[in-house]
Amino acid sequence: MTTPFVSSSVTDIHPANVNAIDSLLGDLRWMNPAISYSFPISNSPFFWSTQPGFGYGSPFGDGEPWSNAAKPLTSTDQVNFEHALQQWANVANVNFIKLTETTDEVGDIRAAYSEDPETSTLAWSYLPNFGAWAGDIWINTSSLLNRQEWDPGAASFKTILHEIGHALGLKHPFFDPENDTAATLPADLDNTIHTLMSYTYANLQGDQGNDFSFHPTTPMVLDIAAIQYIYGANMNYHAGNDTYSYDDANTYHETIWDAGGIDTMQYTGALPTLIDLNPAGASLIGQAVYVQSDVVNLGSSIPNVWIADGVTIENAMAGQGDDVLIGNNSSNTLDGGPGIDIVVVDSQRNQYTLNRTTTGYTVTDHTNSGNQDTLMAVERLEFSDTELALDLDGHAGQVAKLLGAVFGTAAIANQEYVGIGLTEADQGLNYEQLGEFAINATGLKTSDEVVTLLWDNLFGSAPTEAEKSPYVKLLDSGQISTGALAVLAADSGANTDNINLVGLMQTGIGFI
Ligand SMILES: [Zn+2]
Repeated sequence: MTTPFVSSSVTDIHPANVNAIDSLLGDLRWMNPAISYSFPISNSPFFWSTQPGFGYGSPFGDGEPWSNAAKPLTSTDQVNFEHALQQWANVANVNFIKLTETTDEVGDIRAAYSEDPETSTLAWSYLPNFGAWAGDIWINTSSLLNRQEWDPGAASFKTILHEIGHALGLKHPFFDPENDTAATLPADLDNTIHTLMSYTYANLQGDQGNDFSFHPTTPMVLDIAAIQYIYGANMNYHAGNDTYSYDDANTYHETIWDAGGIDTMQYTGALPTLIDLNPAGASLIGQAVYVQSDVVNLGSSIPNVWIADGVTIENAMAGQGDDVLIGNNSSNTLDGGPGIDIVVVDSQRNQYTLNRTTTGYTVTDHTNSGNQDTLMAVERLEFSDTELALDLDGHAGQVAKLLGAVFGTAAIANQEYVGIGLTEADQGLNYEQLGEFAINATGLKTSDEVVTLLWDNLFGSAPTEAEKSPYVKLLDSGQISTGALAVLAADSGANTDNINLVGLMQTGIGFI
């Protein structure tokens, strides 16, 4: 029990011998994972230790409770503070118990305002220790936290999350001259997209800033790993089958901790989206989030929804736009929805078997029987060495059929030609326009030449006068465009047999 004069028991945190975790570990943690908190309302010495070296010093000194600026949190502050506490309790095996302060009992964590004239100091706090001040969090009345509500997404809410991280036993991940042998994170990890305990706002391109357009609303991947190392994971949080739903109306900057079950990330918006289901993977979902320097966005938008280490999210459903989906090492259902959607597999083609099903495709990993992904409404499949177009009922089918009719069956194997056609189709050419584009690429000028070419490619020999003249007349009279004639030829049974459209549907068609 914490009294105003004696803190609860603490115990050593031992190194994990993993740099990314050790860089965040303080020396001591609370022994009991039931951690109390309170909001002080009095600066009477009956509520604060004045013992030298152990408490806040003499009531006549300049210790935090004795400051003229010291004051309790507002009721709105208290609600937001408790919301921040909950973000830590969601991921770690701790629970927070609220106490009303008495002269006999106060919280392990106590939060109130005091003053640091340095306005850039938003707040400060004390890690678990033997002193009565251990776990206490002080908000600077000179800072914007005294003027701004601590709403999720604001710098102020992230600051409260950061201070609670300290109050639980996390340190800063960067060099501290007063603790110069402590582990520190390398520069690519020492930033706030990976840990709330950092002071640095770099994005993945390394652009430095001094703010986010929207701040993290949960502990991030490295915070979760470190706090779970110290206290254990919260294995009751999202232990069932969960759907994480995202839309365009909201902005997200968070890390998902999920204790089990069959889970889905679902995006219902229309913005282009990247969903990466890998543990410690990063997705771009919903409204874009930026690192900023003096309110100016730096570089591209930053990954804004992360998955904690050790978490398996099985399924992803993308939105209305052109999306990218990345599965993990378990069996995933990846549903692209509308748009031209790409599934990216970070291995070579020959490690996988591709099979067509009634609803799409399955992609099976030879080296891991637990990794068979089901693809639905996925147009493109990108391996590390091969790209396949699977939309033989869509753009890829139009391109393949036109290549067969206009350039001959062998052109199907020309991955460069396939790639050019797909780019044109994906960028908006309709089937007839694509046919026109293909005919123009042949350089042929006269109707006779065009009809002869198409006939020859379909039937393997030049047409007779009688065979070609009706089509030449249609073209010359303008009753049919060259593009439409190319489509007519492309859709003919002779052509689809020639190019083995049924077979292409099984295998997809390669392109570059
Ligand atoms: Zn700090």
